Amino acid sequence: MGPLHGFDSDRAAPAGDPATPPARASRGLLIERAGAVATFAGGLRRGASQRDPATIPGPGLSVACWEGRILAAGTAGEVERRIIEAGHPRDAFERIDAAGGLVTPGLIDAHTHLVFAGSREAEWQLRAGGAGYLEILAAGGGILSTVAATRAAPDEELESGARRRLDEMLAHGTTTAEAKSGYGLNVATELRLLSVLGRLGRRGPVRLLPTFLGAHAVPAEFRGRPDAAGAYVSNVIEEQLPAVAEQGIARFCDVFCEAGVFDTDQSRRILSAARDLGLGIRLHADELAPSGGAELAAELGCLSADHLAAPSEAGIDALARSARSGRPVVATLLPATSWFLAKHHFAPARRLIDAGVPVAIATDLNPGTSPTVSLQLAMSVACLELGLTAAEALAGCTVNAAHALGLGSEIGSIEPGKGADLVVWDVPNLEQIPYWLGSNLVRAVARAGAVVVSRP
Ligand SMILES: [Zn+2]
Repeated sequence: MGPLHGFDSDRAAPAGDPATPPARASRGLLIERAGAVATFAGGLRRGASQRDPATIPGPGLSVACWEGRILAAGTAGEVERRIIEAGHPRDAFERIDAAGGLVTPGLIDAHTHLVFAGSREAEWQLRAGGAGYLEILAAGGGILSTVAATRAAPDEELESGARRRLDEMLAHGTTTAEAKSGYGLNVATELRLLSVLGRLGRRGPVRLLPTFLGAHAVPAEFRGRPDAAGAYVSNVIEEQLPAVAEQGIARFCDVFCEAGVFDTDQSRRILSAARDLGLGIRLHADELAPSGGAELAAELGCLSADHLAAPSEAGIDALARSARSGRPVVATLLPATSWFLAKHHFAPARRLIDAGVPVAIATDLNPGTSPTVSLQLAMSVACLELGLTAAEALAGCTVNAAHALGLGSEIGSIEPGKGADLVVWDVPNLEQIPYWLGSNLVRAVARAGAVVVSRP
């Protein structure tokens, strides 16, 4: 990774604030000689528009940014004229040579579990050898092993591990990420995880949106009680949520709504309480079995329903109805997870798109079921296993992911006035991004108009 211009780590941002913009070397940024610019201009993608990247065909294109915002994109002449019209001095622009490469919006990862301790390769090996879930649990594996490791880890260890992953995400083109707590499962540790996320967000340069996921699993100390899940849900609503809201350290609240984890009534109670406290709401829905999650996300008007590897017919219909309403629920699909679990059971992405549901693609970065930082890899799996086109997958990591985070008017496309988060790619067209399996094709990354990654 190349020069990372000084992050303004001292500048205080309010707790839970998604972004501390990086310090810029100059007021303007001019990307020159782009082979094409996939702008994704024109708003949320759904149905046929999911495959429209709104590309400006090159060669010889420029993208100009001024004070952290997009000023113009187009031919070199058009952009030059716009700079002159705006009265910006030419020497105030830092220049990047795209050398014929594609320029896109910065990638947005709308679903990650960034902060955790330990790793679970042993469990993965057991699974590869045919072990079932119960065997793995008996061997001390599963989500509760990450909870135990996370509770025991000091803040510095949690922060340095998450920082390493976050730097890798940035190097792979991710400029904004949602990140969940959920490996604490008690007030003290959940607050600790959200505080770590707050510090990482203030450090930048990746814009981080923290999500409270106290209802990720029922912790060990509650298991064995009668109505263990119910008792823990009460703990989440009465102790954890008020503490999180009081400290203002989470943007969103999420629940793992799944048969055998938290049911729809419990999920509804938690998310309603969260909404009353001013948090945005999102949902882990129907990952393993039809559990009413898609229906609940539509009923509550969640920003996003995530996973959806096994929604019911009624759930797909409910999401389609929400898509026709003014406030569509984005279906955030996590194909790397299904792939890593080798279940050969993937979200019905084509049906969702055909039904007019806006689809986003995210990594689900976590130590148990998706240990990857790379949205490029997630896009490849989306193309191979969900049947998406490259343009549909990239819309899912840009404009639609922005909407899944409630930031559709701020980021996710290259349009004048939007945040200048950009990726310059080493390939000339967007089809090559998921095509070169496993390669990191990022040449440069700008965040709020500052060059934060520059690779040779
Ligand atoms: Zn998840």
